[in-house]
This record gives sequence, C-alpha cells and structure tokens, in this order.
Amino acid sequence: MSKKVVVLGSTGSVGTQSLAVCRSRGYRVSALTAFSNIKLLELQAREFLPQYVAIGDESLYKELKAALSGLNIRVGAGAEAVCEAAALCDSDITINSIVGIAGLRPTLAALEAGRRLALANKEALIAGGELVMKTAKDHCAQVLPIDSEHSAIWQCLEAGAGCRDEVRGVILTASGGPFFGWTGEQLADVTVEQALQHPNWSMGSKITIDCATMMNKGLEFIEAMWLFGLEPSQIEVVVHRQSVVHSAVDYVDGSVIAQLSVPDMRTAIQYAITYPNRLPLDTKRLSLTDYGSLTFEKPDLDTFTCLRVCMDAAQRGGLSPCIANGANEMAVTLFMRGWISFLQIGELVQSAVEHFKNGRKSATLSEIEAADREAREYVRQLVYSKANRKIRA
Ligand code: NAD
Ligand code: MG
Repeated sequence: MSKKVVVLGSTGSVGTQSLAVCRSRGYRVSALTAFSNIKLLELQAREFLPQYVAIGDESLYKELKAALSGLNIRVGAGAEAVCEAAALCDSDITINSIVGIAGLRPTLAALEAGRRLALANKEALIAGGELVMKTAKDHCAQVLPIDSEHSAIWQCLEAGAGCRDEVRGVILTASGGPFFGWTGEQLADVTVEQALQHPNWSMGSKITIDCATMMNKGLEFIEAMWLFGLEPSQIEVVVHRQSVVHSAVDYVDGSVIAQLSVPDMRTAIQYAITYPNRLPLDTKRLSLTDYGSLTFEKPDLDTFTCLRVCMDAAQRGGLSPCIANGANEMAVTLFMRGWISFLQIGELVQSAVEHFKNGRKSATLSEIEAADREAREYVRQLVYSKANRKIRA
C-alpha cells in the first residue's frame, strides 16, 4: 500500500535513509524540513515534490523560496514552520530525525495532531519523556521507535505477543564505540577525528561522539524506560561489538527473544513506516557463519562515566535526564570546537546532574526548556571560567 510520509531533518543521516526507503518503495513525501542545508533540501524537494518544505533557520527563507519557485511547493521557515510540517494532516506518518532537543516541539506538535510518529530523535524523549508519552496518550497517537535498539525491543515485544507482565526486562546492546577497552589514560588525548570514527555505523556527528563516550547508550537507557514503561532495574546494558543483535527481551519463563540483522538503519526505518507489515528491503542479508562468533561483555562504567551518569539521572527522575541531555549537547559542541577534552564531556555532564537538584514532579514544556537552557549555560560557564583562569595564569 502506498504511504504518505513527512520527514523532519531530511538532510541528515536518518533523514536521507528515510528518503531512500520512500524512494525504493515509491512512497509519497508530504513535507520535508532541515535546519540549514538548502542545497540538499532543494534537491530532495525537486525529487519528491512535497506540498510543504520548511527550513529551521529563518534567515534562509528567501533563498529557499527562490530555489523552489515555480514548483508549487509551499515554503516555511523557523521553528514554528517545522512544527507545522510535523503536524501536517495529509500524511500517514511523521518521521522525526532532527538531532537534539530542537526535536521536542515538533514531536509534541505531531502527537497533538494525532499523527503516527516514528521517532529517531531520542533527545526529545530524554528531555521530556513524561510529557511526550502523556501527549501521545491524550491524543491517541502512536510513538514508534526508529533507534535500532528500541526498534529491536519493539519487534521482540511484538514477537512475544504477550502482556507486559510476561516481560522480566530487556537487554540493550551497545557497540562500545571506537574506544571500547581503552583506559582513562588512553582516552585523555582522544581527538575529534578519532571520536568521529564509529566501527559499525555511519551517522551524524553528534550521535557519533555520543557513541564514543557511551552517552548514547545512557540516553537509550532512558529512551527505553519511556517507550516501554520499564524501571531502570529492568534494563541491562551489554557491549556487543558486532552490532548484529540489536537488543532483546527477557521473558519471565526464561526465554530471551532477540532481533538480529546486519547494521542498516533502513531496516528500523522501514519497519516503522510499514508496521504492522514487513516488506522486502534490499539490505545485506545476515549470514551468521560469516560472523562466526558474536561477543557480549559488560560495559566499563568507571571509564565511560556518561553511561553511569545517565543511569543515575534515570534513578533520580524528574528533570535530571533533561539536565544530563542539555549538558551533554553543550559539552559535545564544545568538544567538537576544540574547547574541552574528550574526558571532560563526562565530567561536565556529571557535574551538571549533581548541581541541579530537582524534584520528581511532572514538568511542563516551559520547565523542560528552562532546565535545558540552565544545563547548557552551567556547562558553558564552567568551561569559559576555567579557560579564562588559564589565560590569566
Ligand atoms: P544528523 O546531524 O545527520 O541530521 C540532523 C538533521 O536535523 C538535519 O537534517 C538537520 O538539518 C536537522 N536539524 C538540526 N538542528 C535542527 C533544528 N534546530 N531545527 C530543525 N532541524 C534541525 O543527525 P542523525 O545522525 O540523522 O540523527 C538524528 C537523530 O536520530 C538524533 O537524535 C540521533 O540520536 C538519532 N539516531 C540516529 C541514528 C543514525 O544512524 N544516524 C541512529 C539512531 C538514532
Ligand atoms: Mg541506537
């Protein structure tokens, strides 16, 4: 059956792979959005001829409008325009592949409009998990995971087909990133170029750095809690270097159901679009004998502190995950600009989570956004004041 798809963040890694799925299946694209990559957005718009295209950076409105003139495509700009695309009625599913907390408002906009939402943008769930899931419930809207581990858990839950009482917990697998097995001493001098080399996946730069620090697995730990209603004690993180077992569900009778495939995000993207059906995909087939052996190890929480801090933030609840996420987004930006070392990312995220004491009460959107701003500002101030002290010394 043909589908109509909205793709938010269409110029990114998940966005372009979502469009590859649309292209190969002949799905129509109703709307496209990006932040600033006008050249690619224009090419995508010319190919898919959506009814609406929005650019996040308002200053680029005129340029985009001129680029798409004569194509009968409505053009918008700014954060509101991205939300409008998210909520577009003339579509079957909205894919949110925006990076960072910028994806939170579009997530809420899609759910408030009752859209079916395929979510790659994990930061929205980390910062505002309770609000996002409540909004989905209030508007009878579905949130379907695209993150490969969460897609795997979802598929294993579908396969188990029982009620949630039958689930003992989940096994969340992690590749371990490029520095698995490294000591703190070895990590001290890691460069941005080294951190941007992921062994198994090709992704946007922010998530690639998150994989290197294992912050990504910490974010995914919290993401799993919200998506599947799990307690922190029900989630076990296991390092699995080959990224073939994408995660598993542990049932009360001792059966563990896992989902396996070669690492290819299109499997998870296509499943979210075609659910509850499975359709053919031109991906490499899994040959277990080619792999020969698959390995599973415990994560090193003392060296990869980001993972431990997220587990701690999950236990604290309230706005702690939002603080961890905001602090990390700022720390990753500063690391990529050469302002801080690789290990400082974890130190700053930990410091922010410990600094902001907050209760467990439900947070509104403005409280979530305020906590995010405070966490970023806290990290920025810490780094700049240290840098200034160094310059003065
Ligand atoms: P990316 O950096 O490649 O792409 C991000 C997209 O978001 C771009 O299209 C960009 O224009 C858009 N964007 C950025 N800032 C924006 C803003 N302020 N307003 C509107 N749009 C904005 O990132 P990615 O690797 O595709 O990751 C996207 C999301 O999916 C992230 O949350 C990531 O954690 C998650 N994810 C990615 C992968 C992967 O394989 N890349 C896998 C699992 C989950
Ligand atoms: Mg993942």
